[in-house]
Amino acid sequence: MGRPPKCRRVEFLPHCTYFKPAGIPLWNLAEVGLTVEEVEALRLKDLEGLEQEKCAERMGISRPTFQRILTSARGKVTEALVHGKAIRVEGGNFEFVARRLHCPRCETEWQRLPGDPAGEALCPTCSGTGSQPVNDRCNRKKRGGARCRGKQTRNTKPDAEE
Ligand SMILES: [Zn+2]
Repeated sequence: MGRPPKCRRVEFLPHCTYFKPAGIPLWNLAEVGLTVEEVEALRLKDLEGLEQEKCAERMGISRPTFQRILTSARGKVTEALVHGKAIRVEGGNFEFVARRLHCPRCETEWQRLPGDPAGEALCPTCSGTGSQPVNDRCNRKKRGGARCRGKQTRNTKPDAEE
């Protein structure tokens, strides 16, 4: 299965895709466009507080590429804040990768979907906390069915394909 070489892995799809400053009429409103992978870059670096190396790894891209996406994203957000512009989140070149989690208590493995609330995920089987991400296995085995443009992969049986 081929996929575009520049596709970035994204573990989170934004729920809100349009941000508008209050008190500015639409006809006078300028907007900046953020791509989904730019939001992911901000999330990993500035919200999760990961090192750039780790961020790049999570998105499956080189560090310079991550740096470029992050700088672009920060510039756009700052521009919106300073000049009172709206922010539209859309498009980009990415594939959504559901984050797989493993429960150390009952050994259940499941994956988070874009609609799931942020924060710590509870085990669907025993409602236990302390689940650990198991994304490392992506490096070992290429997952089938991944597509670009935000089509999420609901692959609950990773070993069944390819
Ligand atoms: Zn459990």
